[in-house]
Amino acid sequence: MIKKLLYSPNYFDYLSKKLFLVLLITISLLGCTIKKTENPIIKDKKLVLTTFTVLADLAKNIAGQRIEIVSITKPGAEIHGYQFTPSDLVKASGADLIIENGLGLESWMNKFTASAGNIPRVVLSNGMKPLLIEGDIYAGKPNPHAWMSPKRTIHYVDRMVEAFIDLDPAGEQLYKTNAKIYKTKLEKLDMELRKALDLVPLERRLLVTCEGAFTYLANDYGLEEAYLWPVNAESQVTPKRMSNLIAKVKERSIPAVFCESTVSAKPQLEVARATGARFGGTFFVDSLSEADGPAATLLDLQRHNVRLIREGLAYDLGDE
Ligand SMILES: [Zn+2]
Repeated sequence: MIKKLLYSPNYFDYLSKKLFLVLLITISLLGCTIKKTENPIIKDKKLVLTTFTVLADLAKNIAGQRIEIVSITKPGAEIHGYQFTPSDLVKASGADLIIENGLGLESWMNKFTASAGNIPRVVLSNGMKPLLIEGDIYAGKPNPHAWMSPKRTIHYVDRMVEAFIDLDPAGEQLYKTNAKIYKTKLEKLDMELRKALDLVPLERRLLVTCEGAFTYLANDYGLEEAYLWPVNAESQVTPKRMSNLIAKVKERSIPAVFCESTVSAKPQLEVARATGARFGGTFFVDSLSEADGPAATLLDLQRHNVRLIREGLAYDLGDE
């Protein structure tokens, strides 16, 4: 075969193709080596896990490129009763810190960290006075969804900065600067949401959802809430819960009802049918959307939810 090629006019073509291939492999190998040596910081980067995507977004805003941030749960995952997988534990094996919400949100965390080798943990809601769940079987327990209030999120940011400085003192200035920028965004968001929700008429200020996840938002902006179940940890629709909600929606002539992305909207669609209310859309609370979705960041999540509330409850009042 080679002999044949040597004498054939295609030989040089064959040879140059081979040489080209060898050259290509060498260049790409060199490229890899250069990349590694050119970015020595990456080798020493700390790895911080967060329990869910909303906290990962917050953490990325504070850490910038200095810390590797990875969410244990993926977009769309239900966080309350999450069943962790062996690959989650593999992910955790190299982690320096796990950031969690607390207030009873992540019921699986003790088991998870014990299985993952007791990685240090930081609870963002520590030191915060929570709002409590009213009524039903969870009455008196803290409502865990404090990130649903931009003002409360400032507390999360402060805790995160402390945790990152402990982990990586050399990054102190960066974390503090990033936190300042993000807090300004939260303050602006708070004003934006207030302005938007001010337009909802008083008699329609009842936010009807699947999970009672909007207590903090409702408290900040003068809304009442009604829901099918208090927390997604159980998400049971009993006939009593269903009929209570239907009665409330009818009594107040609430024009729209809603549900969240991590649970089935089926029972809420039933409420809509029984009351004549419109199904106003899907909120994001316990998870961000995928990157190309409407709630890829916490700021977008809030804007998306509030836009739906506006469109559902103040549908006839125009934009301003
Ligand atoms: Zn929830």
